[in-house]
Amino acid sequence: MEKGRTIIHLDIDAFYPSVEVLDNPHLRGRPVIVGGTVKRGVVSSASYEARKYGVHSAQPIATALRLCPNGVFLPVRMSRYRDLSRAVFDIFYRFTPLVEPLSIDEAFLDVTGSTRLFGSPVEIARRIKKAVRDETGLTISAGIAPSKFVAKIASDMDKPDGLTHVPRDRVRDFLGPLPLEKMWGVGEVSLKALTELKVRTFEDLSRVPVHVLERKFGKYGARMHQLSLGEDEREVVPQRSAKSLGHEVTFQRDIKELDTAKKELLSLAHRVARRLRRHGLTGKTITLKVKYWDFIQVTRSETIQEATDDGGEIYSIACALLEKTDTGKTPVRLLGISLSQLDSEAEGQLSLFRQEEDHSRRKNLNRALDSLYDKFGEKGILPGSLLKEK
Ligand SMILES: [Mg+2]
Repeated sequence: MEKGRTIIHLDIDAFYPSVEVLDNPHLRGRPVIVGGTVKRGVVSSASYEARKYGVHSAQPIATALRLCPNGVFLPVRMSRYRDLSRAVFDIFYRFTPLVEPLSIDEAFLDVTGSTRLFGSPVEIARRIKKAVRDETGLTISAGIAPSKFVAKIASDMDKPDGLTHVPRDRVRDFLGPLPLEKMWGVGEVSLKALTELKVRTFEDLSRVPVHVLERKFGKYGARMHQLSLGEDEREVVPQRSAKSLGHEVTFQRDIKELDTAKKELLSLAHRVARRLRRHGLTGKTITLKVKYWDFIQVTRSETIQEATDDGGEIYSIACALLEKTDTGKTPVRLLGISLSQLDSEAEGQLSLFRQEEDHSRRKNLNRALDSLYDKFGEKGILPGSLLKEK
């Protein structure tokens, strides 16, 4: 039986120009072109309005100027794009640890194991799109398919703000009529050679006997044939870009008592621990963030010997750190806990054998807690013991 994988490819729409519009709303609707400002530079990215003039990325700025003399030409602001990219990728990681970045603004997500928790793949894509829009103001297009190859083509079908779902039994109908230019990963030389064979669509290509393709393209010929049918077994290769993982809350009313703050830390600690476990991560450095009523912010950190994903342990360290702040004396408007120096479970498992039984007991308890959360939701029922504890 075939493995039923589900991949989502996500691609932020006209990323650089969209960020520029976000930061300067008066640019909305205008042809925005981001790239080297010197005449010899090239276009990094153009807004959809600018694309209507024939402006596209990698084009010389001088050409873009000629095609679109009224365009708004802006320099690349990489650090700002990186910040927003990070915010978007953080959203991806909420839904699966299997995130493979392709570039600053696109990624593959394997959501096969996420449906029990977050709903159907379409539902997951909708939630990601909504979170990206709500939290960053950007729009992102999604393609859902049984493979990376088809998912990437699908995300491009309905840009901007698109959502295209290609179920397994629709893959061939979906690809068939598409022009071969959509076949990403195929070089221009191969494309030209195919055009000479009068092969223009995926369907045309699928009809060319494999041995003909092999004669022309060597080993790659067979691969092309597979791709023309949408057959692609490549897995999503996760690359952890997350350097820290945490959560914070801003209170509706400032917190004045130390005990109240500790109670908040308890739920924060368990929430962060749960996210660590969901992503198969452990962390060594625990950082507490406190923002006082006057917006002055302090952080306190502690690094422990053995990396942890245990809420109780994180809580007790966070409490000790809290006592090193002015909480209780100065009203607090925000509390946050994050873990850094992250390790993935695969590496952690090596040291697991060295750890005491106590640890594995706690691990089982945590697993049980996680399934409760899965059932009742993060904001739903908290086990009674969690609230009584200290
Ligand atoms: Mg993009």
